[in-house]
Amino acid sequence: MGRDISKCSRAELQECKAELDRRYAGYVAENLKLDMSRGKPSGSQLDLTNPVLNKLENYITCDGIDARNYGGLEGIPEARRLFSDLLGIDVDKIIVGGNSSLNLMYDAMMRLYVFGTGGHTPWRKLPAVKFLCPSPGYDRHFLVCEDLGIEMIPVPMTENGPDMDMVEKLVAEDDAIKGIWCVPLYSNPQGVCYSDETVDRLAAMKTAAPDFRIFWDNAYGVHHIYRECKLKDIFGACEAAGNPNRVLYFFSTSKITFPGAGVALVASSAENLKEIRKHMSVQTIGHDKLNQLRTVRYLKDAEGVRRHMRLLADELRPKFDIVLNTLERELAGTGLACWTKPLGGYFVSVDVPDGCAKAVVALAQQAGVKLTGAGAAFPYKKDPRDRNIRIAPTYPTCEELQKAMELFCVCVKLAGVNKLLESK
Ligand code: PMP
Repeated sequence: MGRDISKCSRAELQECKAELDRRYAGYVAENLKLDMSRGKPSGSQLDLTNPVLNKLENYITCDGIDARNYGGLEGIPEARRLFSDLLGIDVDKIIVGGNSSLNLMYDAMMRLYVFGTGGHTPWRKLPAVKFLCPSPGYDRHFLVCEDLGIEMIPVPMTENGPDMDMVEKLVAEDDAIKGIWCVPLYSNPQGVCYSDETVDRLAAMKTAAPDFRIFWDNAYGVHHIYRECKLKDIFGACEAAGNPNRVLYFFSTSKITFPGAGVALVASSAENLKEIRKHMSVQTIGHDKLNQLRTVRYLKDAEGVRRHMRLLADELRPKFDIVLNTLERELAGTGLACWTKPLGGYFVSVDVPDGCAKAVVALAQQAGVKLTGAGAAFPYKKDPRDRNIRIAPTYPTCEELQKAMELFCVCVKLAGVNKLLESK
């Protein structure tokens, strides 16, 4: 336990600062070059999936199709079956695409923007289109909105998902609000798992916009590290509530196999899939079936994916332990930070004192540790309190991570002490 810095006198703070300056200079002298900015797997994690590279001696799919050739817009049957079993989604609802779910999300947003859905006005023709953005959230979701000029409305996150009182109120009042971004399991960056009640309320809420869509990005749906969180079936909840077309569900194996050569899917109701197929069939004759085939041959079935995820969890757990233990040892009781303790996923989210996040990231950068930019997890990159920092522990080795986390904690303390000294 550290001492509560906010209770220190000016003299004590100055003493503290001198010690921190000395420690910080020590790190600068080490010429570190570490990257904790993006949620990328490390080389050793990627190696665990290498057998996928040798799975194509035979390239005929289970229904006798030559995977080298054109065709198969919806994906090969064995891939659709595997994801159906893994995620509990009807096979008929799934289209398996290329290597990126972000790409599928961008296309989905573009289709709604350009063509509209269900006979409603295409969003591009409306005077304003708004999206709810639970924040902190995934920066690339927000960039999709920014790219299309869709106005983003931040919604605070709670430990059960977005603040649903606020969501319900906003969507009931404003028909320009056309959707919401959701990362329902081990959210990026906080690791929040949506409760059953949150799923039910999202599915059933009354929306002023008849073409309201939930972008359900289950990117970390099978990424349990400490314990498994269960997620309620959003399709079942939407159907039960009489809103069967409300959800566009996305998933990929980017963080299961290879981020550069994984397999992504979009799933939705029959009505939505009909529209998606119509436009997708103009866009492409078919996605990379060889990649789908080798991925499925390696993962085999839903149990094979779970087995593989246990391997990855064993690789990632020590890294999460390092992050959480170092934060606890260095910052608990200082009053300078609070952080999430995710049970899975790829990130830990740290809140430092208001007005200090940019300073912490800059200090770390000057000492050779690259962190995700402060504010990146908020719409327009604007963290209203300049306090949130995303820690992405997966890429560095354990030794590098330990060092980077110690430096990070020194930077948090230094920025916090500097801020207090300014105000005293
Ligand atoms: N969604 C979330 C929440 C993510 O964190 C990421 C990867 N960082 C993605 C989507 C990207 O997925 P893909 O590689 O399938 O495009």
